[in-house]
Amino acid sequence: MSKLPHIGTTIFTVMSQMATECNAINLSQGFPNFPVDKQLTDIVARLATQNVHQYAPMSGYPPLLEKISNLTQQSYQRVVNPKEDILITAGATEGIFATIQALVNANEEVIILDPSYDCYEAPILLCNAKPIRISLNDDYTPNWEKINEVANEKTKLIITNNPHNPTGKTWTESDFIQLEKLADSFPNLIVLSDEVYEYITFEQPHISIHHRPKLWNRSITVSSFGKSFHITGWKIGYVIAPEHLMKEIKKVHQFLVFSVNSISQIAISEYLDIVDVYSLGNFYQQKRDFFRNLLKETKLQLLPCEGTYFQVASYAGISNEDDLTFTKRLVTEFGVAAIPISIFYANEKDAKCIRFCFAKDDSTLIEAAERLMKL
Ligand code: PMP
Ligand code: GLN
Repeated sequence: MSKLPHIGTTIFTVMSQMATECNAINLSQGFPNFPVDKQLTDIVARLATQNVHQYAPMSGYPPLLEKISNLTQQSYQRVVNPKEDILITAGATEGIFATIQALVNANEEVIILDPSYDCYEAPILLCNAKPIRISLNDDYTPNWEKINEVANEKTKLIITNNPHNPTGKTWTESDFIQLEKLADSFPNLIVLSDEVYEYITFEQPHISIHHRPKLWNRSITVSSFGKSFHITGWKIGYVIAPEHLMKEIKKVHQFLVFSVNSISQIAISEYLDIVDVYSLGNFYQQKRDFFRNLLKETKLQLLPCEGTYFQVASYAGISNEDDLTFTKRLVTEFGVAAIPISIFYANEKDAKCIRFCFAKDDSTLIEAAERLMKL
């Protein structure tokens, strides 16, 4: 019998495959299509001929851990111990999986806020624990009334994602105050904060769990170099957690992958000395504005986008179809692949919205907009 009977193939695989089959422009799965910084590929080319190809230490390459600690201090004024509090993971996905496996027991509950990224549920089910999926408000802010209503002594974890995939919404100061109040009411509650888009925010600076000392002792933050350096295929990220939680997470990590590929750890460690991560927000803000401007000429209605490289659009003015049907027609008849938003809900809420990834070169975005004009 299947251990995950209602988990299918992820929508990202399904839509990217359809995009290839239909020879469509792929704005579905979130990955950039422009070249990686030559400074980074030059580092890799140089390292490739050196003696860097054996196992990295289990927690990560020490100079990389050191640099992440410095980056965390520079970005968020938080001091973390590179030896004890940081773990290099095979993408944020492995960090999330290892964290959930390490900390959640059978019959405990985990709060997830829908629409939610799709890698949270399966590891919870594999723990024989219960995902409690609460929809965000219509403007995609957390519904604190509902969250407070469902939280109880069995709630082990709340998973937050800020900036938010798929909606591009970011958390405000008042959301963090609500989260701290919730934590005060439930001393055993742990926060798993998925911040893979931390450096991709626009008008407002990113507020991180790292800014909230009250939560440090009970929170895990997850970051992804895939997002920050346009290298999603490298599958490398990291987790920061207080030592007592990290000790448990490392126990799972060591038998899941043991350690992450060595050459990318060494390359990123060198690259961190020369790259300006703080320019990423501006880079993607220009892409967002460029894409939104192009889409103004279409019948799609654009929702606000405060961070990430995703733009949500409503097609309610165009069609009455459910979003999966509409998305499939969009790729087969119009040659543009997108992601239906209902897929990110437990109870498939059909808001007639789809998600586009705008991490693409300008000519791809222009061509996609021309096709969408025909809708
Ligand atoms: N969390 C969110 C919100 C994401 O969008 C993604 C996709 N990149 C991940 C986690 C997984 O990141 P990674 O590719 O580093 O595993
Ligand atoms: N995070 C990417 C997205 O939201 C997908 C990553 C994946 O394909 N697993 O599109």
